[in-house]
Amino acid sequence: MSVSLIELHKITKRFERPPLAPIEVLSDISLTVRSEEILAILGPSGSGKSTLLRIMAGLITPSSGEVLSAGRRLDGINNGVAMVFQTFAIFPWLTVLENVELGLINSSLTAEERRKRALEMIDMIGLDGFEGAYPKELSGGMRQRVGFARALAVHPEILLMDEPFSGLDVLTAENLRRDLLDLWREKRIPTKAIVVVTHNIEEAVYLSDRIVILQRNPGRVVADITNHAAGLDKRDPRFVSMVDSVYGVLTTREAKAESVASARRYVPMAPVGAMTGLVELLRDLGSRADLPNVAHELLLEYDDLLPLVEAAEILGFARVGRGDVELTRVGEEFADANVLERKEIFKRQALSNVPQFQAIIKVLKSKRDRRMPKEFFVELMEQHVSPAEAEHRVDTLIDWGRYAEILYYDEDSGLIYLEDSEDRK
Ligand code: ADP
Ligand code: MG
Repeated sequence: MSVSLIELHKITKRFERPPLAPIEVLSDISLTVRSEEILAILGPSGSGKSTLLRIMAGLITPSSGEVLSAGRRLDGINNGVAMVFQTFAIFPWLTVLENVELGLINSSLTAEERRKRALEMIDMIGLDGFEGAYPKELSGGMRQRVGFARALAVHPEILLMDEPFSGLDVLTAENLRRDLLDLWREKRIPTKAIVVVTHNIEEAVYLSDRIVILQRNPGRVVADITNHAAGLDKRDPRFVSMVDSVYGVLTTREAKAESVASARRYVPMAPVGAMTGLVELLRDLGSRADLPNVAHELLLEYDDLLPLVEAAEILGFARVGRGDVELTRVGEEFADANVLERKEIFKRQALSNVPQFQAIIKVLKSKRDRRMPKEFFVELMEQHVSPAEAEHRVDTLIDWGRYAEILYYDEDSGLIYLEDSEDRK
């Protein structure tokens, strides 16, 4: 029987950032990590995955809500967990064995027991023969294996992994995932559960028994789905169908619209050139396609693809539902138009569908010289989102606005201005 190892009840996390309002990164998250499972937490960058994992580890305290570990309220560091990160702190002046033993430095084991434990883990994870090697003699994949061995040497109840494969090349990552899953299924990994955070849909489907999907601003759970496709070949119909369902969840209204309050302000990070490429591809595919196929054709991961799809949707070029995307009449018209006509169509759609343009134009028109520093608009957006996100959004609006000739931007002076400025550059 599986039991609850960690329970999160209505967790909210806000980061204070005076004098601005605090930013809410996680909102009302409830989830349970059970024994005997690999749980994937899937979400785009900025959805609070790392923050959530750190809350489970007791490294960050939630602003509200409760964390239970083994049934008891967690207070401080969670001793039942060990973490693996994308880039592991592995010490160049220590050998593989010494690096792994480091994980046990605070344990009550004797030096001899520590060595024995470390050697067992090195052997299990496929590093035997490399005990005496130094990190610089190892490939990226081997170094990541050292990270796994060090985390597992403490025999944690739960292994928490934060995008552990995302720094590796595709083949190395695939090998390491396969080895990890095989070891888990052979019950050779000395933990009761694994939680893996990822922004890669196929990774989540390949590795996990259950996938919890997060969306951003603020990070919240939009789905919790059981996965029976773990370990299958990517081309297996059951695997393909699972990837499809995940796309389906990610493109439903509820999942997509960021919190209702911020939905109108939302600007997906989608450069015009990339969005246009998507519209053209869809036109070539007969105006309708399956999102996993589109991702595959454009060599994009979902969190890079979805903003393009959202942009096409906001601009009225496409409609999305159940993991499929379809061009609208306007979208087809845009795809078939020449360069100048495209700019016209884009301008018309942007002015009627993107309220921020009206707001920016209003501000610029109120100024005698019709110009305003970009920073002004970034700071306005910072009321609602993080500084990095605010900057990205304004950059996207500038990119769209320049293309449509709605507004202009001068990089040197950092000024945004209207095209009918008297003395424009
Ligand atoms: P993910 O791992 O999904 O990319 P993170 O948990 O790293 O997301 O971050 C989620 C959001 O919280 C981001 O917008 C990030 O800028 C913000 N954030 C994370 N840590 C802090 C912090 N210490 N102070 C302020 N904001 C933070
Ligand atoms: Mg992260």
